[in-house]
Amino acid sequence: MKILVINSGSSSLKYQLFDMDSGAVLAKGGCERIGAGGAVTHKVPGRENYTMEVDLPSHDRALEIVFALLTDSEHGVIGSIEEIDAVGHRVAHGGEKYKQSSLVDPELINYLETIVPINPLHGPPAIKGMRACLRLLPKTPQVAVFDTSFYSEMEDFRYIYALPYEFYTEDKIRRYGFHGTSHRYVSQKTAEILGKDIKDLKMITCHLGNGSSITAVDGGVAIDTSMGFTPQEGIPMGTRSGSVDPTIIPYIMKKKGLDPDEMADILNKKSGLLGITGISNDFRNCLAEAQKGNDRAALALKILSNGIKKHIGAYAAEMNGLDVLVFTAGIGENQCEIRRMVCENMNWLGIEIDNEKNENFTRGIPFDISGANARVKVLIVPTDEEYMIALDTQRLVK
Ligand code: AMP
Repeated sequence: MKILVINSGSSSLKYQLFDMDSGAVLAKGGCERIGAGGAVTHKVPGRENYTMEVDLPSHDRALEIVFALLTDSEHGVIGSIEEIDAVGHRVAHGGEKYKQSSLVDPELINYLETIVPINPLHGPPAIKGMRACLRLLPKTPQVAVFDTSFYSEMEDFRYIYALPYEFYTEDKIRRYGFHGTSHRYVSQKTAEILGKDIKDLKMITCHLGNGSSITAVDGGVAIDTSMGFTPQEGIPMGTRSGSVDPTIIPYIMKKKGLDPDEMADILNKKSGLLGITGISNDFRNCLAEAQKGNDRAALALKILSNGIKKHIGAYAAEMNGLDVLVFTAGIGENQCEIRRMVCENMNWLGIEIDNEKNENFTRGIPFDISGANARVKVLIVPTDEEYMIALDTQRLVK
């Protein structure tokens, strides 16, 4: 079975074609600058990457180009688009209705339209991607896989904010959680690696990338997570502030004469590592600056690692224990320094890492960095959201 996974952003569209019989990626790539020019990168394992500049006025056109590349005599990997058995779409937000991955139909798309006001950045491009696929592949089943659905079993006292209750009932203000597909993948993979039933494990999964979130997974169920109504809540990120005292926002808006869009832009795009250092949102640059003696870069790393540490302590308390701590995504998988800072002085909780293993880990594969006396396993587990989407899609269309 061949499954195409699509991830549509506001001006981008990423794709991966999987052969589910072997689990291999046959081809992958991305369209950039949709609506403002256009460029496509297409990668086939074992061949040179192919890039092209092409006018991409819409997601529809981008998808047409992707299908042309997948079936091209020189760059392609399949004879015709009929060979694609199903399409899986990454959808950030399923609202309160979609609690699990679901077949795409008009009802699903109509519902996603109704929740665009609470998902203005990610909702419209995902809908465009689905509509484009329905038009170009009308006979092929399509599945929507939601980042929020992993949190659908979270209890109300963890998702209701202490605000007037009508904000929830009338305005849908609640914690939804994001990055769920990644947390679900790494938690299942971790149980598999440890050879244990996920029902018997209390885990904390740290997805640390340009966007970061931490999730408490008790017996396979996500019971709490750091992101909330939007991906803005929680720990500091590349350019997002994470949680701040809410009163800062009206205070600084009044003081600097900012309107809501300008304020949202600062919180989303000019805060986090970039905001503190004034240099970069990229962890690598911040670390390099800190190592050169830049105090603000060193401060940014401490704020980030302390934010992660506080969530680990809180989630261990919520779960009444902890068996496994997992690091994933760009920073979590690749940066030993953040893992060292987070796990330092945590032996009271049973967390101790082996510094040698932490520094000399093998990239791209799961790696155990637990110390000899650790009561809590500490693992690096590379995430693979696209494969998780392909697996859900396969399950639903079968
Ligand atoms: P992501 O959003 O998961 O792509 O992660 C982006 C972040 O991960 C950036 O802050 C990078 O500094 C960091 N990162 C990504 N890849 C690497 C790598 N190979 N080595 C070190 N850091 C990396």
